[in-house]
Amino acid sequence: MTEIREAREALKLYFGYDNFRPMQEQIIARILNKEDVVVLMPTGGGKSVCYQVPAVVMPGLCVVISPLIALMKDQVEALLENGIKAAFLNSSLTADQQYQVENACLSGELKLLYVSPEKLLSSGFTSFLRRLQISLFAVDEAHCISAWGHDFRPEYTQLKVLKQQFPQTPMVALTATADRLTQKDIQEQLCLRDPEVFIASFDRPNINLMVKPGRDRFNKITEFLERHHGQPGIIYCLSRKGTEAIADKLKKNGFKATCYHAGMNAQQRAKAQENFLKDDVQIVCATVAFGMGIDKSNVRWVIHYNLPKNIEGYYQEIGRAGRDGAKSDALLFYSYADVMSMRSMLMEGNEKQTELQLVKLDRMQQYAEATICRRRILLQYFGETMKKDCGNCDICRNPPVSFDGTLLVQKALSAIARTQEQVNMGLLIDVLRGSRNAQVIEGGYDRIKTYGAGREVGTLDWQRYLHQMLNAGLIDLAYDQNYTLKLTEQSRQVLFEGRKVQLVKFDDVKQPVEETRKARPKKEVIQDALFERLRALRKKMADEFGVPPYVIFTDATLQEMAAERPTNRISMLSISGVGALKYERYGYDFVNEIINFMTDEQEKGNKVKGATHLVTYEAYKTGNNPEQIARQRNLNPVTIYSHLATLYEQGYEVDLYKFVSKKEYQEISKAIAKLGPDAKLKDLYEALGEQYEYHKIRLSITLFKVTV
Ligand code: ADP
Ligand code: ZN
Repeated sequence: MTEIREAREALKLYFGYDNFRPMQEQIIARILNKEDVVVLMPTGGGKSVCYQVPAVVMPGLCVVISPLIALMKDQVEALLENGIKAAFLNSSLTADQQYQVENACLSGELKLLYVSPEKLLSSGFTSFLRRLQISLFAVDEAHCISAWGHDFRPEYTQLKVLKQQFPQTPMVALTATADRLTQKDIQEQLCLRDPEVFIASFDRPNINLMVKPGRDRFNKITEFLERHHGQPGIIYCLSRKGTEAIADKLKKNGFKATCYHAGMNAQQRAKAQENFLKDDVQIVCATVAFGMGIDKSNVRWVIHYNLPKNIEGYYQEIGRAGRDGAKSDALLFYSYADVMSMRSMLMEGNEKQTELQLVKLDRMQQYAEATICRRRILLQYFGETMKKDCGNCDICRNPPVSFDGTLLVQKALSAIARTQEQVNMGLLIDVLRGSRNAQVIEGGYDRIKTYGAGREVGTLDWQRYLHQMLNAGLIDLAYDQNYTLKLTEQSRQVLFEGRKVQLVKFDDVKQPVEETRKARPKKEVIQDALFERLRALRKKMADEFGVPPYVIFTDATLQEMAAERPTNRISMLSISGVGALKYERYGYDFVNEIINFMTDEQEKGNKVKGATHLVTYEAYKTGNNPEQIARQRNLNPVTIYSHLATLYEQGYEVDLYKFVSKKEYQEISKAIAKLGPDAKLKDLYEALGEQYEYHKIRLSITLFKVTV
């Protein structure tokens, strides 16, 4: 039987990761044990590894059923990059290409085969499969089996033929949809044998959650983009027109942006997607049609230009950011006007549906107006309770301050009462602020007692306080009566029974911590500069090899490189995401770029830790001898020899025997053997009767360490 140890080795060799994520190891152990499993993990949780690693270590072929044809190509490409033999079969291939893939399956050279459900169910295909040695069936996007869900695929319900025809072959079903009903459907319809169900946390802690008032959103977006220079991201808009308008405006402002919506033809859409995958455009302004079936792991941010209809959609959309696990941002713009227009839109729909959708919209609105940790709200919505606040949302970072708002609330309530509950929010604010607009005068509201009683509070702040009052049930909104405000039982408590009310204070001036431009430590600045260079190199190589950049290395991997600055093979291989095969293809170029960067920095006069010997190396490569280098660099020659020794130890091509002959080394090494390689140079020098120069002893120590 295949051991989990082999799986761990494969994880390192092919994927470059040292450890499995919490559930991956248990899942894989079950699969290796030929048991069936169901895996519920959020997007980016690491589902693919759960079947790709077993596929590599088990004898035979793993067949992956996936409904997203566009994704298959990307996944196969990524596997091939990792040195794993894989192919796909679907309707996009020519007969000749299909034939080739089938032959590759028969010859046993493939480890993974992706097929569409249509292909799998086509006539004769299962008999073809029976001619192969099949290690595992992996059913991806398994929620498509559930008629309850929104991605229902009728062909999926026929996948039970697999268990019928291959009862001994283990099956793993994977999805990012967690509800119980779907889970049950998956188990039953695939006829899984007593499967263990693994449900991972749906938390995506690397995504920073932010909500901002919708006012002036375009300027806020350009500010945001300045802080996220060149980083790929998606702006979700409500309408097709909106996506076009924003993309145009962004382009006029010098950004590389494009739009994507269902009104474009297939070719235009494919082009937009391709440009985005390849990092040729930075920004896609899209309707929710965009995102299903893209696997781009380096989406660094997602902006919602409008409030989404519900939390399910919102969470799925922000989940497209940061699949590589690196820091990412989700920014939502919220305005009351958006809620109103969404409401009117929903009200036009059929009745039974509408009620549910309005409730969902309410939850979305509550999220946007939250005054507690936003991640708590999201996860609670999906039935997961967090033990503590997340620390990575705007509320956690910048907790709201509350104050005794009783007086303000009383003023508003009294104004509502005195206007006979006939005014909507905008008009109420006008009355409170003592505005002289036509509606106020016509209604005679300038003559009531509370007219102008709230002059000291700005219109926008009034809006926010009234929203809080709404959320707290202190007032009600009559959707069916022109959105006029109504008093409630709770209003009466405040007006007549002395109930006190706390309001959350808003302070536009106060900037969230992450946005203030603090002077950053030099180390970080250098790290970012290096990251940018590595990113540029990655883009160049991606274009050369015709793959999307994130397939070469993820952002997370590049970030680790920028922080650790590996300058040789061994240290490069210790970076998470650099497998042996990836190293062979790309590693050397990245090592080289890091060295070049460090030498450049050094030349600019910036002290770069760990780089001084590399500067020596650059000089050495151009044919200078150590004495010359020492003069150039104004250093002691022994220091330069010591650099050469370090370089030699790290595997650089340095010929130490140029500076200490083999014969000399033999003599010196006897003394080293006696006193030990950690002995002081001076002691060795004396023990050798002061016959050999210091630098020869220094180099011999290295030769001794490396050879003995
Ligand atoms: P999913 O299919 O669940 O959306 P993926 O399998 O695409 O997620 O994995 C998301 C990201 O996490 C990928 O970049 C993947 O390489 C990375 N990843 C997966 N497993 C591990 C692991 N054990 N250690 C580090 N990174 C991992
Ligand atoms: Zn939080």
